[in-house]
Formats: sequence, structure tokens, C-alpha cells
Amino acid sequence: MINVIILSLIYMILITLIYFSKDKIENLDNKIYKRIIVINIIGLIIDIIQFLSIKNELDEQLIYLFAKFFLLYVNAWTFAFSYYVISKNTKHSTALGRLLFTILVVTAIIGFILPVKYFYNGTEMYTYGKAIDFAYIVGNIYLGICLFSIVLDYAINKNKNLKQYIPLFIFVIGGILEIVVQKTNPSLIIVSSVETFITILMYFFIENPDMKMIEQLNIARDQADKANQAKSDFLSSMSHEIRTPLNAIVGFSEALQEEELPEKAREEVKDIVMASNSLLEIVNGILDISKIESGKIEIVNSEYNFRDIYDNLVALTKGRLGEKPLEIRTSYDESIPKVLYGDHTRVKQIILNILTNAVKYTKEGYIDFRVTSLVKDDICRLIISVEDSGIGIKQENINKLFSRFERLDIDKNITIEGTGLGLAITKKLIELMQGTIVVQSVYGKGSKFTIAIDQRIIHKEIVEDAKVEVVDSSKNVDVSGKKVLIVDDNKINLKVASRLLESYNLNIETLDSGASCLDKINSGNIYDLILMDDMMPGMSGVETLHKLKENTSFNIPIVALTANAISGMKEKYLSEGFNDYLAKPIDKEELKKIIIKYLNK
Ligand code: ADP
Repeated sequence: MINVIILSLIYMILITLIYFSKDKIENLDNKIYKRIIVINIIGLIIDIIQFLSIKNELDEQLIYLFAKFFLLYVNAWTFAFSYYVISKNTKHSTALGRLLFTILVVTAIIGFILPVKYFYNGTEMYTYGKAIDFAYIVGNIYLGICLFSIVLDYAINKNKNLKQYIPLFIFVIGGILEIVVQKTNPSLIIVSSVETFITILMYFFIENPDMKMIEQLNIARDQADKANQAKSDFLSSMSHEIRTPLNAIVGFSEALQEEELPEKAREEVKDIVMASNSLLEIVNGILDISKIESGKIEIVNSEYNFRDIYDNLVALTKGRLGEKPLEIRTSYDESIPKVLYGDHTRVKQIILNILTNAVKYTKEGYIDFRVTSLVKDDICRLIISVEDSGIGIKQENINKLFSRFERLDIDKNITIEGTGLGLAITKKLIELMQGTIVVQSVYGKGSKFTIAIDQRIIHKEIVEDAKVEVVDSSKNVDVSGKKVLIVDDNKINLKVASRLLESYNLNIETLDSGASCLDKINSGNIYDLILMDDMMPGMSGVETLHKLKENTSFNIPIVALTANAISGMKEKYLSEGFNDYLAKPIDKEELKKIIIKYLNK
């Protein structure tokens, strides 16, 4: 038996060296575990001394003393082990620890006073007597308390995973079995070896610092994820709330611009429009970035014609030039397959961001917008480059370019409107599509942004719905007398929408709920177009639409009108059954397109 004890000691020393040499996250568990290890080593040493002292037939009193020290060790180990188990299963571990410690002191004193005897016949040896019996009883009480704490904890926290109790449970049962076996076969001398075995198993199953570290890291990651989620939710609901009053500001100030106003007022209205538009840009940016970061943005793929996007982008860029003396050079690779499969809304958003920046950060010279492609099997790699002769970016700033809210060269850009969110969003969207973006720039001379995005090729002729719809809003509109119904629970929103539609000489009616809209339609009223808010109390826009469509003869076009303007929303509303989508604050140009599409027929 002595060989087993010596081996246990060697093994325990090795484990101790490994345990103490590793970095650990300090907590109550491993504080107690450290004590268990130390107590265990001392116990093994006492056990060996006790064995040798009996074998060498030392003085009886000395043997009794060693035996009592050994009992003290057993007591201390069981105490520390129980404290460990209980501290894992209860919030009141400090109070319970004190109670157990008191038991330890009292039982240690009693154990010391009670008599102990030993038996040795040259081959067999063991200790016995009242002190030993008492130690068995105390040990069982400790382990009983442990079992009770495990069962109680499971009963209270049903949601905890049952699996995590298994190692502790097995250890406690192992401890009880050890006492029973030792009591019935005293000459086996297994106590210190079994306790070592349990201590070592605890290391491998629970206390291994690497495992603990991973466990702690997982907890930290979960907490960080939750905090990030809470932040994103807050940002998106805040942005949403801001959009409603902003709708009124943008709508009315844009309407005012068309009025006959004194020169000073005209200037001020122009400033209000500009300021509210840049506020809107910030809100949209925050909304987009928070959605991307919380993983709520999805890439919605469909068939589309890249040429349409390209033409549209060129037109938009020219429209943004204003008075700037900038030459727009364009080049389109005609070999780009006619029908591609991908998220055209995002592709357009990405390129538009880069083109808008080129216009913003270039005073004079040129903007060169080029698209080429590399085709391999079914994949078309779109290579889009935008080069400008603008202010350029310092080499040391290129890495900061894609960080949120990072605006470079502030003193030079002070007059340029911007949020520092555009490129952060652009980069994240490109990554979502497994694409790349590269920036080259010479400070003071100009910059070149090159994007590569892979899109699948669809081998067929252009079909009507693969075409991205481009409505020519420069067309003259004559829709006077057409009947339009606007449904929105917010009175100001109704006023804004009516005001923006005023110049079309329409016959406008407004309603403030989904239910009243249903009543109107069901009582036979006919309209040429319905603009419907989604987020209304009682019955939402989507619900109202579904109810209206239950009547199979209902065929009035309905356009969703909502402050829920995250990219990707349009697809969601179209899939619900809306004919189209208008984000609030309502953009005059977008509104005009809708009017042309549905009323100017
Ligand atoms: P912003 O809203 O400020 O334009 P972006 O994220 O789009 O935000 O761009 C971040 C910063 O990168 C800008 O503030 C600007 O300093 C710099 N930048 C972006 N594009 C260009 C460019 N074409 N030329 C020079 N600087 C640019």
C-alpha cells in the first residue's frame, strides 16, 4: 500500500507544480482548491511517516501522535472539499464556510482527545479506536452536507445544466464509498490515496486553469454580446424615434423652399434643409451600423442587371456635383454578364458611398468611375474603381479610414458635411459579401478606391423583373384629381405627407388608423393609391394590408410609409405584399417616382 501512497505523493507534487505555474483567474473556487492541494500533500507525507513509524516500531506515543495528525488531515481535507462543493452551489458560501470551520475546530479537538490504537502483525497494519470512528462519522456528515447542497441547488435553479453537477456528485459519492470501504477493510489504508485521486480528478474536470480560463472567457464573451445587443437595440430604437419628428422638419422645410419667401428666410430654410438632411444621414448611418454589428443585416440576393445600377449611379453622382467644376469620367466593361445574382441594393449603397465621398472631397479636376470584370465559371468578379483628384489621404490615416466616426484631416474638412460612418458601413457591407476594398492615395493629389465583389452569373436573357426599376423623375407629371388615401396614426406625419403632395393637385384623404382604413374601403370607397404607415397602434400597416387583401377584388396599390428605414426593409415590405416602400422622412424625389409610377399612367 505504501507504494501507492508514495506514487500518489509524486503525482500530486507534479500536478501542484503545473497548477501553480499556470496563469489563473483568481476566484473563491481556486482559492479553496489551492488549500485542498496543499492539505493533500501534507496528508500524504503524514501518512508515509505514520506507516514508517509503525513499521519501524517506533515509540507508541509517537505513533499515536502521527495517527492523530493523520486524522486531523482527513478532517481538514474533508472540510476543504465540502467547502469547495458548497461554495459552488450556494451564494452563502462565506457563512457556511465559517460553520464548517467551526465544526472542523471542534471535531479536531475531540479527535485529538479520543483514544486511537493501532494494529501491526508484520504484514498487516491499521489504526482503529474511538478517534477513528469519530473521524468516519464527521467525514460522512461533511459529505452529507455536500450532497444536500447539490440537491438543493438543483432544486432551486432548475434551469442550470444537470451535467455540471455530475463531477461534484461523483466525487462526493466516491468520498462516502471510501469511508465505507476503509471502515470494513481497515488494513487497506486507502484514505489518502483516494483523496489524492479525487483532488487530481478535480483538477482535470473542474479546476484546470485552461478550462477555467475558457469558461471565464465564454462568460465574458456572453456578457459582452449581451451589452452589445443592448446598445444596438437602444441605438436602433433611438434612431427610429428621431426619424418621426425629423420627418416633420425635413418635410415642412422642403415644402417651404417652394414658397415665395423673403431672401433672408429663403437662405435660412435652405440651411434647415441641409442641417436636417445631415442629421438624417447620421441617424441612418447609426441605424445601419448598429444593425450590421448586431448581425441583423442580411444579404438579400436576387437577379439584377448591373448596367442599370451603373447608369443610375452615374446620374446620381452628376446630380450631386452642384456647381463644382468636376469632370466625371466613366468606363463600363461591356463584357459584364447581363444578369447577375446578388444584393443589388447593397452593391449600389457601397458604390454610392465611395462616389459621394469622391464628390465631397474633391474641389476640382476629375472623378474617374470605372467598372471592369473578371469572369470565371459562374462567377463574375466586379472590379469597381473610383479615382479622384481630391484632397487625398495621409498614409498614416489610411488605416483609420474604416473606423466608425473617424473623420480625417478635420481642419481641412471642416466645411464638408459628414459623419465618419459611411466608410465603416461600406467596409462591413463589402465584408458581408466576401468582397475586398483597397485604398491608394497621395495626400494633396487624390485617392483611388478599388472594390472587388463576386456575383453569380445567371445565364439567361434579361427578364423584366431582373431589371432594376429606374423611373425617370424628370418627366412632367399630370395627376390632378387622382384620389390618394394617407393612413398614419401621427397627425403631424399626415400633415407632412399631405403638404408634400399638395403641388400635385390630388384629391387627398387622411385617416389615423388601420381599422378606419378598412371601414372606408369596405364601405366601397375607391382610391388610386394608398400610402400607409406600418407602426400604428391597434392594427399595424402590415396587418391592415393583409386584411384588405383578403378581399380578392381589392387592387388599389399600397405603398408602405415608415420610419423603419434600415436597408433591407424595402424587400421586407414588398414580400409582405406592399407595392412599394417610402422611408420617412419622405424624400421628395422618391415620392415623385411613386406618383409617376402609380398615378401618371
Ligand atoms: P464622412 O461622412 O466623414 O465622409 P466616411 O466614413 O465616408 O465619412 O469617410 C471617413 C473619412 O475619410 C472622411 O471624413 C474623409 O476624411 C476621408 N475620406 C473618405 N473618402 C475620401 C476621399 N475620396 N478623398 C479624401 N478623403 C476621403
